[in-house]
Amino acid sequence: MKEGKNDCFALFVLGKGVSREVIQLFGMNSMRNINKFDYINMIEVEDLKVVEESLGYMICEIVDMIENDTHTLFIGKLIEADILKDEEAMSYSYYQENKNELIKETTKEGKGAWTCTICGYIHYEEDLPEDFVCPKCGVDRTLFEKREI
Ligand code: FE
Repeated sequence: MKEGKNDCFALFVLGKGVSREVIQLFGMNSMRNINKFDYINMIEVEDLKVVEESLGYMICEIVDMIENDTHTLFIGKLIEADILKDEEAMSYSYYQENKNELIKETTKEGKGAWTCTICGYIHYEEDLPEDFVCPKCGVDRTLFEKREI
């Protein structure tokens, strides 16, 4: 039935305890600029990538697509699913309500947070050293933006 990975999609559920890295990477970057899946640990299921930290996933075969002005709605038939961790799921409203808290946790002691504009990596330090390079994607400090939290 399945002819290739374009005929299927993967949905995965993140938990409330998901790492800050994943939140930053997915919440503050666009796939138009970077391939988010290159910067965090992924597992492969049916040739599709699933975030390793996920609580679980659903692999669906595309059976229909409905286009409207702003979105494309994919209708899928579930072909495989699994639970990886038994923890509480993070809803979009939980994320919106707690976004600042989720990020603030590591900025104790008034440290600044520098975000790599290329891969989303966050470095918690007041100032970046001159020779600082992103440990994930290798760009230099000029591509980091400071965020005061
Ligand atoms: Fe980076």
